[in-house]
Amino acid sequence: MAPRRINPRLAKLHRNYTAEEVASLLDVNRQTVWKWLKIGLKAIDGRRPILIMGEELRRFLYERRAKRKRPTPPGMIYCLGCREPRSPAGNMVDFIPLSPTTGNLQGICPTCESMLYRRINLGRIEDVRGNLDVTFTQPGPRITDCANPSVNHYSDNPGTAHADA
Ligand SMILES: [Zn+2]
Repeated sequence: MAPRRINPRLAKLHRNYTAEEVASLLDVNRQTVWKWLKIGLKAIDGRRPILIMGEELRRFLYERRAKRKRPTPPGMIYCLGCREPRSPAGNMVDFIPLSPTTGNLQGICPTCESMLYRRINLGRIEDVRGNLDVTFTQPGPRITDCANPSVNHYSDNPGTAHADA
């Protein structure tokens, strides 16, 4: 399921696009465009049918591409020390809840001994745990150590730059 390469430069910065136009411009399904809108692509406020600025579309596509460059496979956690996904030492991790539905998988990098954190959605733990042995823990005071939420697919949108239309 290699993702098809999409060229963000097809989006003209100073044009607005409807979802249909985005789909035909990039040769993707309309459903794909709607999915993007759910996961971070921003439409212009209050417009129906929705309009997406070319500049925003390009930003979204570049960001998405950057995230895909280094996918973290199941059973692995991206190590900020090694700058690569690693299998935690002993294939053991703790699950530290952050909210009723999310938490961090936490382990130790066998290569550089950094702590590894992977922010996950509890409902999708089976997608990321791979062969890891997960211990479920209660939140504790050390949770504030997690200043560095792991690189993941659920990250928030960065601040958006709204250009003049
Ligand atoms: Zn490491």
